[in-house]
Amino acid sequence: MDINELLKKESLNRDEIIYLLGLSDEKEINSLFARADEVRRLYCGDEVHLRGIIDFSNYCEQDCLYCGLRKSNKNLPRYRMTPDEVVEVAHKIINKGIFTIVLQSGEDAYYDTDQIAYIIYSIKRKADVAITLSLGERDFEEYRTWKIAGADRYLIKHETANPKLYAAFHENQKLDERLEHIRFLKEIGYQVGSGNMIGLPNQTLEDIADDILLCKEFDLDMAAFGPFIPAPDTPWHNKKAGDVLLTLKTMAVARIVLKDAHIPATTALATLDEDGRIKGLKAGANVVMPDFTPSPYREKYQIYADRKCVNDNPDYCRSCLQLQIESIGRRVSSSRGDSLKLLNHKN
Ligand code: SAM
Ligand code: SF4
Repeated sequence: MDINELLKKESLNRDEIIYLLGLSDEKEINSLFARADEVRRLYCGDEVHLRGIIDFSNYCEQDCLYCGLRKSNKNLPRYRMTPDEVVEVAHKIINKGIFTIVLQSGEDAYYDTDQIAYIIYSIKRKADVAITLSLGERDFEEYRTWKIAGADRYLIKHETANPKLYAAFHENQKLDERLEHIRFLKEIGYQVGSGNMIGLPNQTLEDIADDILLCKEFDLDMAAFGPFIPAPDTPWHNKKAGDVLLTLKTMAVARIVLKDAHIPATTALATLDEDGRIKGLKAGANVVMPDFTPSPYREKYQIYADRKCVNDNPDYCRSCLQLQIESIGRRVSSSRGDSLKLLNHKN
């Protein structure tokens, strides 16, 4: 296949996506990244959106084989932040000029419908910010209540579009059910983010192509592609981490296929590669999601080993990221960074 012809195409089929994911020639890979960067500029502009994450609980009722928060991990010291602590941290993030708050946790029913609604309402009462929930699979009625309380977005990765792999990694969950949640969240008006992990055992390039195509089928507002990193005290503690270059190629192909979806340069990518964030931003990404969980909690949110910046003071995070982003000629957005699909639709 002629790479330059391929990269000019308006849409790519499954075989073409697999071909691009499998590129090994350095010059061709650089052409892929350059095209992804061009598509990103065309559809998303030069702004990078920051999303401030608060990991407010590391308790989890699920047992995903890959994750350090899985309920069977008895070696992890667990914590829960109080709703008022969460609201206080959210307001600190807003004061730093970041206008999306991501509330993330394990699947933890300790926080009932009303407590989450209280957190959402209390954050939004004081500022025009977007709230993303990333709480795993919850009741459909809860999603509705939280939407009414002011939640804007929901982040729930499908992890892999291959039902056999999904079943092998999740004892109690099914891919179909996960996809039902994504469908429902979209239906009731959330801006929805999903995505996969790269480097899961037995995952093929075909599987990754299907992940990208699934994101397209769902017309997602955000799609995240991050490498798997082994976590201590899990059945996969000695598996190989996902490949950085394959992750970057996936992000680049996804940008070309998904066009105006937000794509983050993930913390997992930055954990595996010192320059991962910058490389990601140059390969199609337009979002960065720094962690603002305060100590002594942040070091206990061990989804995998040696998470990037986990020992840094979150107060410096905003300025450090701004420097990195400006060093490649991009700028930090001062907007909420809502779905570009919604904004384009309105216009
Ligand atoms: N519990 C919620 C859920 O599963 O959707 C949200 C929190 S969960 C820790 C967020 C994401 O972390 C998951 O969707 C998964 O992709 C990612 N994750 C978990 N373990 C990981 C690992 N070992 N390496 C890389 N990413 C991981
Ligand atoms: Fe729990 Fe989410 Fe980790 Fe699965 S990925 S064990 S649901 S925190």
